[in-house]
Amino acid sequence: MIQVLIDKCTGCKVCFSLCPFGAVDMVDEKAQISAACTLCGACEKACPAQAIIIERPKREEIDLSEYKGVWVYAEQSEGKLKSVTLELLSEGKKLADNLGEELAAVLMGNGVSALTDALIAQCADKVYLAEHELLERYNSDAYTAILTAIISKYKPSIVLYGATLNGRDLAPRIAARLKIGLTADCTGLDITDEGHLLQTRPALGGNIMAQILSRYTRPQMATVRPNVMKRAEADSSRKGEIIKVEANITPRIIRAKILDIVREVSQEVNLEEADIIVSCGRGVQSPDNIPVVEELAKTLHAALGCSRPVVDEEWLPHMHQVGQTGKTVAPKMYIAVGISGMIQHLVGMQTSDIIVAINKDPEAPILKIANYGVVGDLFKIVPELVKELRKGLQEA
Ligand SMILES: Cc1cc2nc3c(=O)[nH]c(=O)nc-3n(C[C@H](O)[C@H](O)[C@H](O)COP(=O)(O)OP(=O)(O)OC[C@H]3O[C@@H](n4cnc5c(N)ncnc54)[C@H](O)[C@@H]3O)c2cc1C
Repeated sequence: MIQVLIDKCTGCKVCFSLCPFGAVDMVDEKAQISAACTLCGACEKACPAQAIIIERPKREEIDLSEYKGVWVYAEQSEGKLKSVTLELLSEGKKLADNLGEELAAVLMGNGVSALTDALIAQCADKVYLAEHELLERYNSDAYTAILTAIISKYKPSIVLYGATLNGRDLAPRIAARLKIGLTADCTGLDITDEGHLLQTRPALGGNIMAQILSRYTRPQMATVRPNVMKRAEADSSRKGEIIKVEANITPRIIRAKILDIVREVSQEVNLEEADIIVSCGRGVQSPDNIPVVEELAKTLHAALGCSRPVVDEEWLPHMHQVGQTGKTVAPKMYIAVGISGMIQHLVGMQTSDIIVAINKDPEAPILKIANYGVVGDLFKIVPELVKELRKGLQEA
């Protein structure tokens, strides 16, 4: 609750000019706070007369030392682990080593125990395994109930989720149940000197990278998109512990039932799984020129990606977009044609093994991260490249 002590208010307007939310009105030369107030505290700090008081509910103090270990939600579908699970285990291992703690995976499903080997091979020291016929397919209610119960019982310090459709559904539900925070779509994770999880993600439209800490609550939870973290080599000789967890659920708790699954049949190559991606940007200038770049993609058996303006102009559908509001990809080779390399695009492709950029501007930011840069007109370079590649392929 925020309160203006009218007797103390001098009408100096410091709060009025400072409020980032325009939530202060001046009425009869006294400050008045409107419903737009977010209790950010800027006015309280700045008021020279100390006439503004915010009463905050007391935060429940928890003993952070009770929370130990790094966990990864091991997402599987139809008995197959999602690749993001293995990427997160590789990243989780670094965090766990940094903390001197264990890495664990939480696996839920029905008849999925065979997957524990792959989780252990990918560095998990422990696997918490919950199996039940009601967990056959992902459903929000059952998965939330079980994972909340396991987290409450074993108290991990960190829980990581893939920012997949299911991960994005599950993680916020757990956060709400446990009354803790969640940082979505992290692009970097680290441990601070104080032992907190340092979560980095693009903010303010991708113009800055924000670093977020959860200093007072546990577990610290984050989602990470597929392909953002690199997967380490698996080691099938590793040994780990499997902890079977009772799945205490009944059909009554499940409010949404899956009646049928309709798969989208698409001829398009899946960008997230492609080995080579050829992507076009605004530099192609018109939808009539997309075939120039498409030809290069076809020659290399590559998937066709693009930057956001290409989608905004409706030259290609959104499924082709790479970047912050599109897909995150990490192919063996990413060829950016007529793409400048703004941060919102780079966050979606910068972990590609080899980056090739074709751009007529030698100062284009994409050339700073490219392994190979070709400076020149794409309309001359790309057809020439296609010709040479075809010649090379015929000779091979
Ligand atoms: C909240 C938010 C989210 C966003 N999400 C995304 C996202 O997911 N993905 C994304 O891509 N962008 C995203 N953007 C937009 C992003 O900021 C850039 O505007 C966008 O990436 C620029 O696309 P571009 O490189 O194709 O176009 P431009 O920046 O216009 O660059 C075109 C490039 O083509 C080159 N060029 C022109 N003609 C030729 C030629 N004949 N031959 C060779 N080179 C040529 C130019 O030198 C230039 O470098 C987002 C922006 C915001 C604010």
